[in-house]
Amino acid sequence: MRSLIVDAEWDPRPDYDVSDDERESRTAMNASQVWRDPELRVVDRERPTPDDDEVLVRVRYAGVCGSDVSMIETDEDGYVHYSAYLGLPNVTGHEFAGEIVETGDDARLFEPGDLVTAEVTDYCGRCNTCRQGFHGHCVNFEQIGFTIPGAFAEYVAVPEKLCWDVSALRETYETEDEALRAAATIEPSTITYHGLFVRADGIIPGDHHVYHGAGPIGLTGMNVSRAAGAGAVIAFEPSPERREIARDLGYEHVYNPIECDPVETVTSITDGEGADVHVETAGAVTQTYPVIEDTLAEDAAVVHISNAGADPDLALRKYQGNGAQLYGSEGHTGHQVYPRVIRLMAAGRLDNRSIITSTFDLADADDAVRQAADRVDGKVLIEV
Ligand SMILES: [Zn+2]
Ligand SMILES: [Zn+2]
Repeated sequence: MRSLIVDAEWDPRPDYDVSDDERESRTAMNASQVWRDPELRVVDRERPTPDDDEVLVRVRYAGVCGSDVSMIETDEDGYVHYSAYLGLPNVTGHEFAGEIVETGDDARLFEPGDLVTAEVTDYCGRCNTCRQGFHGHCVNFEQIGFTIPGAFAEYVAVPEKLCWDVSALRETYETEDEALRAAATIEPSTITYHGLFVRADGIIPGDHHVYHGAGPIGLTGMNVSRAAGAGAVIAFEPSPERREIARDLGYEHVYNPIECDPVETVTSITDGEGADVHVETAGAVTQTYPVIEDTLAEDAAVVHISNAGADPDLALRKYQGNGAQLYGSEGHTGHQVYPRVIRLMAAGRLDNRSIITSTFDLADADDAVRQAADRVDGKVLIEV
């Protein structure tokens, strides 16, 4: 079957302490310290066979994520930007939707023909972290499209416990094809949903939300905020193309943070009260945090989603003075997140389809990732 492979050279930086586990599995906990000179190849490889607890999904649509891009972008020494867990070579892609075509011997949640999407993090269920309910932070975790084969391929084998049925979207979007196109954007939506409603506390309808960064995560997040009853949804985004996408989605408060004064802008839209919810989806933390800290409403929630390399200086007294709280949020595992996002979509309250601005055939999947690297698209999809 056809698939997109990312490969790179294993060349740990001299000051990076490689563990025995990392060396044996050729998997780096911090990819940016180990993997060098990456390359993308569309290749033919064998179709996977599902393990006993897995299902085989025929992929129909798969979205290109910022993390896929950061696996092929490098610093001046050739090391990849991606700074989390990564084993190469691997089939990448983790935002997908498709049809189950085969089930493992012990898999019993689904049948061939079911339409599904899937969570990304495979957890063991047995480690101390899992047993206390934090499956997303399992110490024995693997990730689809990062350390185990992903969805930029005709087929992907997935543990059935990670799959969620999206058949309900067939009625919302009329055709199966449209339903699966929409379903491929569930994963990015779950990232902000998890930050807003699992990690943060006390976000209520009518709260003003600010998105610092309107890339694919920011744009799908704005739709989640709107679906959840936000007051004003304000976005700061330097790319004119992405600002245009946000405006086409019906958002009026969309600004270039380089050309306007973001503090004045938020202050004026919120009648001087500041924003109740700030979501950092830019990664430009030295620019965004000073703005966030000068526009905190009383009892504000700051949700940190992006994974920037450098840390900002935090003005702690401003959090203290406003009773504001900073929440770190990573991933989307468990906690009712996938089924709730699917319900929002099925109810017609969350429609991400106009965020999809480019679609590539699987044969050109390498071009799709390169196109996403230009950072002008909302979401780049690969059609299988
Ligand atoms: Zn992603
Ligand atoms: Zn575990």
